[in-house]
Amino acid sequence: MTPELRDRSPRPDGPVRSGRGPSERDWGRALKLVGEADEIALACHVSPDGDALGSMLATAFTLRSMGKRVVASFGDRRFAVPRLLRFLPGLEMLSPPADFPDEPALMMSFDSSTLDRLGLLAGNAARARELVVVDHHPSNAGFGTLSLIDPGVAATAVLVEELIRRLGRPITKDVATCLYVGLVTDTGSFRHTSTTPAAHELAARLVAAGLRTDEIARELWDRSPFGYLKVLGAALDRVVLEDGLVWTYVTHLDRAAHGLPYDEVEGIIDVIRRTEEAEVAVVLKEDDDGAWQVSTRSKGAVDVAAICTALGGGGHAGAAGFTSHDTVEQTMDRFREQLRTA
Ligand code: AMP
Ligand code: MN
Ligand code: MN
Repeated sequence: MTPELRDRSPRPDGPVRSGRGPSERDWGRALKLVGEADEIALACHVSPDGDALGSMLATAFTLRSMGKRVVASFGDRRFAVPRLLRFLPGLEMLSPPADFPDEPALMMSFDSSTLDRLGLLAGNAARARELVVVDHHPSNAGFGTLSLIDPGVAATAVLVEELIRRLGRPITKDVATCLYVGLVTDTGSFRHTSTTPAAHELAARLVAAGLRTDEIARELWDRSPFGYLKVLGAALDRVVLEDGLVWTYVTHLDRAAHGLPYDEVEGIIDVIRRTEEAEVAVVLKEDDDGAWQVSTRSKGAVDVAAICTALGGGGHAGAAGFTSHDTVEQTMDRFREQLRTA
């Protein structure tokens, strides 16, 4: 990241938050900022997942219904919605990062734990007059002018639902679909420890709005191109189990041989991490620029967020990631070294 960007975190590496959510005062300020704005610029983290995109789109629907002008984007150089999420309603509200206001009067960021994770829009965020950071990552130090951050909730979508409720706006079927996708993806279909009673209560309210959970589940998890099976086969063929660590990698060439786009391999970690003998699972995925996007998972004894943060990335204790420009072996050596000291 370029050093001149203004990150408004209280401390550069930020304190770990206490487990408390936004105060009444914070919510009040958010409602006032939204109420007084004519145009609101929305951004979520790069390579958006269900929570990032779902939270942002639900907010976009709501603000539009209030008569606001809304710009919504994410800062990837290749501006493309992952295939898995192309069924989401409201994608037509997205515009490429080049169309994003340079110095937004009011900007909101979703599911992004740092300014950097906004990619090409980090500069716009740093220049925004007001920047409302909506997030649930424990490592988020609050890099905006107002934080709506609660590390105790399962997804950023939980905070967005509260915002919509406080704005007095309805949860339409479209809004419910977007929020549910955020909730169901970040909780791993209500399997992760983040699945609190509140997460189920939110799911109940969203389902009551009329969404089709069966169709959403099929779109998210139960379909893939044939090439996925071949690439999964290659990844499984070279999987390694060593001292409680299971890991493998997927090259650009693996994917190219079967015409498989990068985002189709995101789910391979969910196959690898089932290994009973392993506490930690790692999948290195070579992206279209030749960089390795590293997915890591832990069953609880190891904080992979701490390891990934030390390697320049971040995430949650049980699911984290980082980017590497080294070779597979060098990357794994660095990972093992951090794992040993963890
Ligand atoms: P993934 O393995 O891509 O599903 O990512 C798991 C979690 O790790 C995400 O929810 C992010 O919070 C975090 N994460 C993944 N990649 C990065 C990265 N390059 N930098 C910071 N955080 C990351
Ligand atoms: Mn996310
Ligand atoms: Mn999230």
